[in-house]
Amino acid sequence: MDKELIIGIDLGTTNSLVGVVDSGFPIILADANGERIIPSAVSYRKGGEPLVGREALRSRAVAPKRTITSVKRFIGRPFSDLSAEEISSVPYELTGGKQGPLSIPLGSEDAVTPQQVSGEILRHLKSIAEAALETEVRRAVITVPAYFNNAQREATKAAAEEAGLQVERMINEPTAAALAYGLDKLDENQTVAVYDLGGGTFDLSVLQMRDGLFEVISTAGDTRLGGDDIDAAIASELMSRFDLRELSSGEQATLLAAAREAKEALSKQDSHTVRLPFFRDGKSYEQTVSRAEMEALIAPVIERTRPICQRAFAEAAAKGAGTVDHLILVGGSTRIPLVREKVEEWFSLEPNVSQHPDEAIALGAAIQAGILCGRVRSIVLVDVTPLSLGIETFGGLMNVIIPRNSTIPAKAGEMFTNAVTNQESIAIRVLQGEREMAKDNWLLGEVLLPFEKGPKGSARVGVQFAIDRDGILEVLARDTVTNEDYVLEIRDAAVDVEDEAVEAMVSESIDYAFDDMNERVWTEAKLKSGELIPAVEMALEQVGDQLEEEELSQIGAATETVMVILQRGDKDAAALKKANLALDEATQTLAAILVEAAFADPDS
Ligand code: ADP
Ligand code: MG
Repeated sequence: MDKELIIGIDLGTTNSLVGVVDSGFPIILADANGERIIPSAVSYRKGGEPLVGREALRSRAVAPKRTITSVKRFIGRPFSDLSAEEISSVPYELTGGKQGPLSIPLGSEDAVTPQQVSGEILRHLKSIAEAALETEVRRAVITVPAYFNNAQREATKAAAEEAGLQVERMINEPTAAALAYGLDKLDENQTVAVYDLGGGTFDLSVLQMRDGLFEVISTAGDTRLGGDDIDAAIASELMSRFDLRELSSGEQATLLAAAREAKEALSKQDSHTVRLPFFRDGKSYEQTVSRAEMEALIAPVIERTRPICQRAFAEAAAKGAGTVDHLILVGGSTRIPLVREKVEEWFSLEPNVSQHPDEAIALGAAIQAGILCGRVRSIVLVDVTPLSLGIETFGGLMNVIIPRNSTIPAKAGEMFTNAVTNQESIAIRVLQGEREMAKDNWLLGEVLLPFEKGPKGSARVGVQFAIDRDGILEVLARDTVTNEDYVLEIRDAAVDVEDEAVEAMVSESIDYAFDDMNERVWTEAKLKSGELIPAVEMALEQVGDQLEEEELSQIGAATETVMVILQRGDKDAAALKKANLALDEATQTLAAILVEAAFADPDS
């Protein structure tokens, strides 16, 4: 039943991401450095493979004409289509005949097309997926803006083919975002608005559920409006505060990077100090910017999105769409609190922001890919598992192994490990149901798998579920270190469940979806705290004496915050995640010292 894998790709103007459905959940894949958001940048070196992503961005200062960013603006468009403003908006050159295709000269004879540049980015994403999944990947779902015309779509598809990826489907970005939010389960005629403010583009799309499918009813946008404009507004304020005029291109790049850093920091905190050490003639500059000051600067940029929203709504209304039922925010720039406030105010509707705004489109692409290759089922088939089957994992979570509605016979498995050092056994609790927490599902059986004591993560237990044609579930647990097998057979339960019981379980899972989701996020965050706190304590013991008083007290306070939230009874998952992140950030220096110490002292 496992058809060939398909990946989902968000090929963005500023950033690109790749995802896949893994054991029933869509996930974004990380590169070797653990980064999931990959800058859409390609740097062509003289002789040698092009660099893609963060590395390419780093070479921008030295090779501005050979470092291509924002190429999505140009793909599939003839040169004659471009305005002078568009051409001057990028540091590299663009050429082409009157009706001819667009080309980017790289100096000395070579040139590339936007399609080739996109192809490089896609090839890079493909290799990230292949490394993460340890398998060859040949097929993909790719998202494109709803306003992309046929030529732009065709060129994107051709770019994928150049990268060795067959495009199984292209879906519109707002549709992907709606999928990520699970809105594909909406009732007929429900209306969804997707507000997407990225790095260099803004669009608002109105979607409606018609005949079980999302249709983009209207879309309006500005292809020159986004986070870059906000960076520019902050940079120009900094210039006047520093009393600087006439920047060199290197200085300008540094200033813009500092402005962007300030912007992103101010989404999380109330003030930020911009520091430009030895910026000009050995002179350093420093200025503190408060969130309120930044908001005053950027409000006009945000305000520009408002008439665009109105335009899209007017068109949607003309086409018979009713009031908006769901509002979702995507694009990295919607992390800015003022954007959220403004949008909420304009729409008089609280936006749903439960997904990471920069990941939602890629998640949706992954879900669509999962549906296409049978890893996610959206239709009920005849001989299927009525409810999901899985086992309990760390923190009492349900880990689905065979999802609900899988055709039988079916076989699937996963590897597990020990959560604590010197654990002597692992209890494999076989569960059936749709709820996120193990305790809310039905327990079908249990087997205790002993293994040799060892450090955390040393045990390797493979668990395989196989359902035969008669609906008998066989659970095989194998200790892959000793190769010992434990088998548990469960008759009937896998398939023979009363219709009403199934309905009750499914509707319960929908009723509790938000609570369950919170429970899952809380449990995961709690596990993370459980790893973080002892690690920090140990690090402090080893090298804490090398830290400044102030840093020590910051770490103390951040640890305290985590503990307080853990002890509070309200399971505030968002707060705990935030506190974990703050603790992680507060201990950056500590971690660096620890790493250094480990290198300096080979015995430690
Ligand atoms: P695109 O769709 O254009 O590829 P993204 O959705 O990834 O882009 O958005 C990138 C933009 O989001 C950049 O301008 C970046 O500075 C901005 N951004 C990312 N994180 C934050 C943040 N925490 N606060 C404000 N802006 C952010
Ligand atoms: Mg985007």
